[in-house]
Amino acid sequence: MKGLADYHTHTPLCGHAVGSPDDFIRAAVRAGLSEIGFSDHAPLPAGLREGITMRPEQVEDYLSLVEAARGRHGDAITVKTAMEVDFPFHESFDRRYLTDVRIDYLIGSCHFIDGWGFDNPEHLDEFDQRDIDAVYDDYFAILSSLIAAGVFNIVGHFDLVKKFGHHARADHSATVRRIAVECAERNIAVEINTSGLRKPAGEMYPSGSILSILFDAGVPLTLGSDAHNPDEVAYEFSLAAEAARRAGYRSISGFSRRKRYDIPL
Ligand SMILES: [Zn+2]
Ligand SMILES: [Zn+2]
Repeated sequence: MKGLADYHTHTPLCGHAVGSPDDFIRAAVRAGLSEIGFSDHAPLPAGLREGITMRPEQVEDYLSLVEAARGRHGDAITVKTAMEVDFPFHESFDRRYLTDVRIDYLIGSCHFIDGWGFDNPEHLDEFDQRDIDAVYDDYFAILSSLIAAGVFNIVGHFDLVKKFGHHARADHSATVRRIAVECAERNIAVEINTSGLRKPAGEMYPSGSILSILFDAGVPLTLGSDAHNPDEVAYEFSLAAEAARRAGYRSISGFSRRKRYDIPL
């Protein structure tokens, strides 16, 4: 995928990814990408983070790890430093990093609805206890406040609630349109995250219909594989590029020190 950028990748520091940043970068070069961004999971609180995110005292190690890898491969490819941060914020996340100049962009992601880790297969049963449209409403309300927080550059996996194949019954497109306008007003991008293709949902985040709404509202777009091992870097990016073009996009976005710029698609 010549010239594209994979902006959602992880490192073993989170406890559920394998492969060194060097391996990820080599895979990105092989795939013909012009950029790779590391966006490992920012610390969740003890009790929630085991095997899911790095610990607070590892954040500096993480930033150094990416910096060192950039030093070794900077001639071959552009390497960006980022983090995937849970919203609503947890006290375990040091808000200093929201404005840290070493960080090129922040992905804001919602993995919890009122403490329920809805994308964790261990808590799947909870879907049977809840009305699916109420789950979508709750999830989109969190996305809306994530955008209003004004500190994120990219919204992660926009319709993650569908991960295990739980599709909404009602039509939530009016809500999505409102959120799209909020993103566009703040110049916040949404990613096409191809990892949904590897999950029971069997489709990218977001769906094609949401992508069209985002394009119509003028929301910038990034691409992310959510790679947790080097083989997943640029995963199905040809499908992602195709979906983006079908929705109307002719460029994607990159970020350097929180400043957005265009990358031709
Ligand atoms: Zn992960
Ligand atoms: Zn995520």
